[in-house]
Formats: sequence, C-alpha cells, structure tokens
Amino acid sequence: MVKSQIQILPNPKQIQNPKSKTFWDLEIGIYLVVLVLLVVLGFLCGCQSRYLYKDSRVMMGTFVEVTSPDKQAAGIAFAEIKRIEDLLSKYKPESEVSQLNKTGKIKASPETIYVLKKAKEFWLASEGAFDITVGPLVQLWGFKDKNYYVPKDEEIKKILNLVGFEKILFKDNDNVVEFSFPEMSIDLGAIAKGYAVDCAIDKIRAAGITSCLINAGGDIYALGNRFGRPWRIAIQDPRGKKFFAYLELENQAIATSGDYEQYFLKRQKRYAHIFDPQTGYPANSGLVSVTVVAGDCLTADALATSLFVLGKDKGQKLAEKFPQTKIKLIEIKDIVKYGE
Ligand code: AMP
Ligand code: MG
Repeated sequence: MVKSQIQILPNPKQIQNPKSKTFWDLEIGIYLVVLVLLVVLGFLCGCQSRYLYKDSRVMMGTFVEVTSPDKQAAGIAFAEIKRIEDLLSKYKPESEVSQLNKTGKIKASPETIYVLKKAKEFWLASEGAFDITVGPLVQLWGFKDKNYYVPKDEEIKKILNLVGFEKILFKDNDNVVEFSFPEMSIDLGAIAKGYAVDCAIDKIRAAGITSCLINAGGDIYALGNRFGRPWRIAIQDPRGKKFFAYLELENQAIATSGDYEQYFLKRQKRYAHIFDPQTGYPANSGLVSVTVVAGDCLTADALATSLFVLGKDKGQKLAEKFPQTKIKLIEIKDIVKYGE
C-alpha cells in the first residue's frame, strides 16, 4: 500500500526542548540572518539574469533588432543576416540576385536556388498573387529609388510582359537560372527577410541560446520565451501611431504586410509597394494589413504578402493550404479577436 506523504506533527507543547532558551534564540537569529542574506542574494542574482540585451542595425533595407538575455545573440544574428543580404539583396551589386538581374542568367548557389524554389512554391500556391518577377513593376512605379510615379496604362501593359514566374527557367540540374527576357528582374523583398531571420535563429540555436527575439522590420521570430513568459509582439495600427493589439508567441514567427509603411499619395489616392501581378497596379484587395503567424519566418513573410494581394476570400482559401503552419489571417476589423 502506498503510504500517504502527509505527516502529522506532534503538538508543539509536547516537543521537549533539549537546548537552553538563549542558545535556541541565537540559532534562530543566525538562521534568520542567513535566510535574509540568501533572499537578498537570490534577488540580486535574479535581477542580473533577467537583463535583456538589445541591439539594432540597418540591414536588408530595414531596422533589424535583436533582443536576448544572451549577450552573444545580436552579433550572431547580424553576421548571418549580412551573409544573406550579400547573397540576395537587389541593392548589393555583387549579390547573386543583382548579377541575375544584370545579366539575365547565372550559375546560382544552392542557397539562392532554395529561396527561388520556395518563392515558386508560393507563386503556385497563391495562383500567381505572390510573384518575385514584379521587379520591373517596382521600378516603373518608382519604389526602387523612392522616385514615385503613376504610370500610364500602356506603360503598365508593356511592363507586364516581363512579369510572371513561368518566365524564370531552371537549367543544368537546377544550377543555372535564366530569364526568358533579359530585361526581367526579380525582387525578393517579400521573402528574403523572413528567410534571413530563420537562418539567424538557426545559428543562435546552434550556439546554445534558447531565448531570443529577432525583428527584421516586422518579420519576427520569437525563440523560446522571455524569462518563462511568452514574448509579447505589438501589432501596429495601420492608420495610427499606436499599437492595435498584442500577440504572445513562443517558438513562432510572425510577419505583417500592409499599405502603411511604403506608399505614396497622389491626388489623395494611396499607392503602396505590394503589386497585383495580374493588373500591374498596387494590390487593391480591400485589406490594409495582414498578419500571419507561422512556424517559420519565410512562410509568414511570403504568406503575408500573398494574402495582402489576394484579399479576404481568396486569402482564406490560400491559408487553408497551410494547415501545418497554424496560419492566422488577420483582417483589420478582426485584429482584436485574435488570440481569443
Ligand atoms: P512585404 O513587405 O513582405 O509584403 O514585401 C513587399 C515587397 O515585396 C515589395 O516592396 C516588393 O519589393 C515586393 N513585392 C511587391 N509585390 C509583390 C508580389 N505580388 N509578390 C512578391 N513580391 C512582391
Ligand atoms: Mg512578405
């Protein structure tokens, strides 16, 4: 029979005190002093270990912020994100993406091929809403150098001939990437930051760090937790300066695509940086902000952009194709409901 763990203590009056009263008091006093010292020490150590190191840098055209109780985390993250930036940035002349955009054909590294294939997956899944060949549209509308311009319909039509993932050819056992038209260009702005965050998190994990938050301009991964509590992520109000809602995440990624960070106004009309590859115009699906929570940041990043182009109904259909990633599509009016 299993004995109960509860012990019945004798009545204190029945305890025979073998020690003298003064000695007894002195001993309690020492115990108390030691106890107080331990509590104070514990508190001080606790305070120290609860410190969060924060560092930020401008990388991949945005602010990258790293928060962690581990001092090493930021350095590891920045080094890895720089490596990805050197490979995939359209602004770095030596990057593989810039070389491809310049020459229309390159022998690419397996990593670049991996990201291009991932982009193709989202192009297929979104039925063309997500398309990295929007490069010429981004340029035509002036988003590449912030020299904004509303093109004429004919100009857009002409440029649309250069848009379409089917015009990217993979050759020689997928080692070589070639454009159907040399004037084409790719833009990994909707997927590369998410990929870079995932790579940085992998490196941070490999270094034995278990708690870290990386935020690359809204593409976020929350590794582990923050002293036993989930990381709290604020979602910005797309039409105000305040935060709209808070989400609590542990070992999950989150990305937001919206029309409120990169846009210009012309005759009181808003033109934002995410394009509908079918029309050649900035996406006009009725959404102003889409937030996606997924298991990895590349998926969250690419899906947020895809859903922003597709809008609510078609977007729901796409979200259903990714059940394993626990995607949550958040419309602006639904944002408060999130997390219920
Ligand atoms: P994000 O902020 O992640 O939604 O990415 C937006 C960026 O992706 C834009 O600034 C463009 O560089 C690029 N982009 C625009 N439209 C699309 C699209 N339909 N599919 C893929 N990338 C796009
Ligand atoms: Mg994106």
